[in-house]
Amino acid sequence: MTNEKISKHFTRSEIACKCGCGFDSMDAETLKIADEVRDFVGYPITPSSGARCLIHNRNIGSSDTSQHVKARAMDLPLKNPKLAYDWLCVKYPDRYGFGLYKTFIHIDTATGPARRW
Ligand SMILES: [Zn+2]
Ligand SMILES: [Zn+2]
Repeated sequence: MTNEKISKHFTRSEIACKCGCGFDSMDAETLKIADEVRDFVGYPITPSSGARCLIHNRNIGSSDTSQHVKARAMDLPLKNPKLAYDWLCVKYPDRYGFGLYKTFIHIDTATGPARRW
């Protein structure tokens, strides 16, 4: 894991699998959307989840089909998740997967359009 920037706002270590396995790739399109959310909210975001190996993904109780396993999803903790979620749904009405949670939003580029809240 390194602090190498892999997009406008995010570093490789921020999107790496949290288990320490070294899985640290992330789809460029997913990163682009994350950068857009970062620019939209105007404050730094530390992803709570990015890439996940299958073992870690199972350990946290997620489905094997999760886009995090394919390095195509990020979870972004936000002060007002609904604001960014609504903005994304308007910006990309017929593309991507977005999920709205209490403290964060999930974004992915493999499914689409998919909405969860
Ligand atoms: Zn892992
Ligand atoms: Zn997610």
